[in-house]
Amino acid sequence: MAMDMDKILAKHREISARGQDKGSSTSSTVGQDGVRYFKAIDGQNELRILPPMFGNDTFYVEHATHYKVGPNNKTVECPRTIGEKCPVCEYVQALYQGTNEEKELAKEIKAKKRWAINVIDTKNPQNGVQIYDIGETILEQILGQMMNPEVGDLTDPTTGRAIIITKTGQGRETTYSTSPKISVSQLSDAQLSLSVNIGEILVSKIVDYDTVIGIMDGSIGTEQRKGSLSQFLPKDAPATVAAPVAVAAPVAAYVAQVVVPTPIVVAPAAINTTGMSVMEKLKALKAQQG
Ligand SMILES: [Zn+2]
Repeated sequence: MAMDMDKILAKHREISARGQDKGSSTSSTVGQDGVRYFKAIDGQNELRILPPMFGNDTFYVEHATHYKVGPNNKTVECPRTIGEKCPVCEYVQALYQGTNEEKELAKEIKAKKRWAINVIDTKNPQNGVQIYDIGETILEQILGQMMNPEVGDLTDPTTGRAIIITKTGQGRETTYSTSPKISVSQLSDAQLSLSVNIGEILVSKIVDYDTVIGIMDGSIGTEQRKGSLSQFLPKDAPATVAAPVAVAAPVAAYVAQVVVPTPIVVAPAAINTTGMSVMEKLKALKAQQG
């Protein structure tokens, strides 16, 4: 029997529409840093990934982020990414020695590896180049596509192509599937020049030790209280939670257990970085930013 293409088209429209109806339809937000961030919507997202820029040798920049930190559920970029001490990581290490409830909290706030990439939303090109911060699942799928010799380097300006990322489900049930577009899409010099220096932006998000402590005890951040780190502390603990400092484990003790993120690679133009190691460059950049 011949295939009924009308029936197949109708089915495809039905499934696509189902995805678009639910949840967020906004695929783009501008952060406090003025940078535009892409967020996958339910259903199909079509993205063209940009090639490595700014001295990077990969199209992604690896970093580590803590989520739901402190009474205000803040997101904290892990300072260990640039080799500095992180009070959240120290606290997580201490929590792992505690009760099951504390271990659960440790899992929730421990540093999660993320990979930030430059993308163009091909259905909304007016949004320009945006940062898309992805987890391991999507990264693995993208790398898997690129391992296919018939697809190759998706990010190549001339021979690369867009990918379709389909998002289904909500919350912890969210799943993603990825497939490359068949046709090649070229990137213009103008588009390439809009690439965002992700490494520099990530470094600028890293705050000092005392500020992170402030986020952990709630003295910094004013959003609606949703859940609290302090609920897991002894009831007679002072209201200003000093515990994260007090319980800090020796550095050597947690290094073995906490995943150490690979330093992000930044090539700042304003500083003479000749002869500097990656870590020295990052520190110099951080110092320059104050
Ligand atoms: Zn950390």
